[in-house]
Amino acid sequence: MADQKMRVDAVVIGSGPGGYVAGIRLAQLGKKTIVVEKDKPGGICLNVGCIPSKALINAAKTYDKLRHGAKIGILADNLRVDMGTMQSWKGEVVGKLTGGVKTLLKSNGAEFRVGTARLTSPRTVEIAENGGKSVVEADAVVVATGSRPIEIPGFKFDGQRIVDSTGALDFKAVPERLVVIGGGYIGIEIGTLYAKLGAKVTVLEALPAILPGNDPEIVALVARKLKALGVDVLTGAKAKGWVEKGGRAAVTADVGGKDVTVEADKVLVAVGRRPNSEGLGLEELGVRIERGFVPVDRQLRTNVPGIYAIGDVAGQPMLAHKASHEAEVVAEVIAGHPAEMDVRCIPAVIFSDPEVATAGLTVEEAKQRGRDVKVGKFPFAALGRAIANADTDGFVKVVIDAGTQEVLGIQVVGNGASDIIAEAALAIEMGAVAGDISLTIHAHPTLPEAIMEAAKAAMGEAIHILNR
Ligand code: NAD
Repeated sequence: MADQKMRVDAVVIGSGPGGYVAGIRLAQLGKKTIVVEKDKPGGICLNVGCIPSKALINAAKTYDKLRHGAKIGILADNLRVDMGTMQSWKGEVVGKLTGGVKTLLKSNGAEFRVGTARLTSPRTVEIAENGGKSVVEADAVVVATGSRPIEIPGFKFDGQRIVDSTGALDFKAVPERLVVIGGGYIGIEIGTLYAKLGAKVTVLEALPAILPGNDPEIVALVARKLKALGVDVLTGAKAKGWVEKGGRAAVTADVGGKDVTVEADKVLVAVGRRPNSEGLGLEELGVRIERGFVPVDRQLRTNVPGIYAIGDVAGQPMLAHKASHEAEVVAEVIAGHPAEMDVRCIPAVIFSDPEVATAGLTVEEAKQRGRDVKVGKFPFAALGRAIANADTDGFVKVVIDAGTQEVLGIQVVGNGASDIIAEAALAIEMGAVAGDISLTIHAHPTLPEAIMEAAKAAMGEAIHILNR
């Protein structure tokens, strides 16, 4: 194909929850925009991350609930997992959403192109596509290239024995034995999912506890539930290497100075992700890169005028909703509007069992910032809806400023946490005080009542537990 040259207002590189949202919003703001994607629309999140993992997690949860349905009067004989059907259903879920991305881009007026983009000047993007190459001149380039799994020595990804999250979400059968290296977001979500489907799961976590950075009381509850599910969690465990032995992988880890060997049919390595900032021509153009990330200011500008970065490649936290929010901000900035990243909190959810969801500061973090705090805690065990759901492991903690009663942070552990947390983020974003939550009538019987009760508890006014 001959070289083609065209002029647009903006080129967005990458079509994950950062890139495709930037493309839609730029087009809505009247900017002629091309979104370039070298793989499939929707990025990691839609194709091999958030969405397919939640589809499988939901399926595993349904299976597990039915297996334990006898105590609520549901008896099922011969219950079993058909992984083939589960995987094709997951594929349908993904297909629906990725197809939607293309349609949304198109109907808003943005062009979607499959190709590999590279900057040759701050305002020139070369796109290798269909065996040919086109050159696009753009007033603004948004780098939204995401991240990829980190590989560790001794565990080269081979797609067979040693897999990353993409491989683990595509197993054709439930592995009898699964070793998970890394007890973070991915390790715990996928480990729990396969344990529910019947795998014997061992998690090797290098630090003294899983889910580092979370409230210790919350981590303790998740760890207790993992144990009840039959998952072995080895902490202080550094995976060293593996050998093929008797048709399985024998994985060796240093656990507190002693070598421990665990057998596995599959090994999932989930020790974090690395930003995709290489091969884009950024360094050659003088774009600053720090430990792989592209640093940006509050308007998502890099140090080189005309080049912006959003999402995982622009820094932590590597969360889809942070990328999408940055995408909307960067589109406004490029359109010349006075926008910037100005958020009080970025909520985070771990789809473990029970789920964990947080917004704002923990007690520890608030104290470190010199705040005098009060904490209100409300257990799911005292909540009508949770009891009716037969799912009472969990609690809500509301952290408020002792003087002003401003809501500083809310942590939730318990199934349903992923939905409840939206109210917490709204409260913090709006600068709510505990009274704003406690005086809001919450529909009964619902799980969000736990947030209302915890806010009341922080004020010493809880109704359904004793105030201490
Ligand atoms: P993570 O940073 O959440 O967890 C990695 C874990 O691996 C840590 O606990 C770390 O101590 C441990 N570790 C590191 N090296 C190790 C080693 N050699 N041996 C044993 N343990 C080791 O990373 P992740 O789980 O890979 O997830 C990557 C990113 O993806 C996360 O940062 C998160 O932002 C994102 N993610 C989010 C969600 C969600 O929002 N629900 C789900 C999955 C992933």
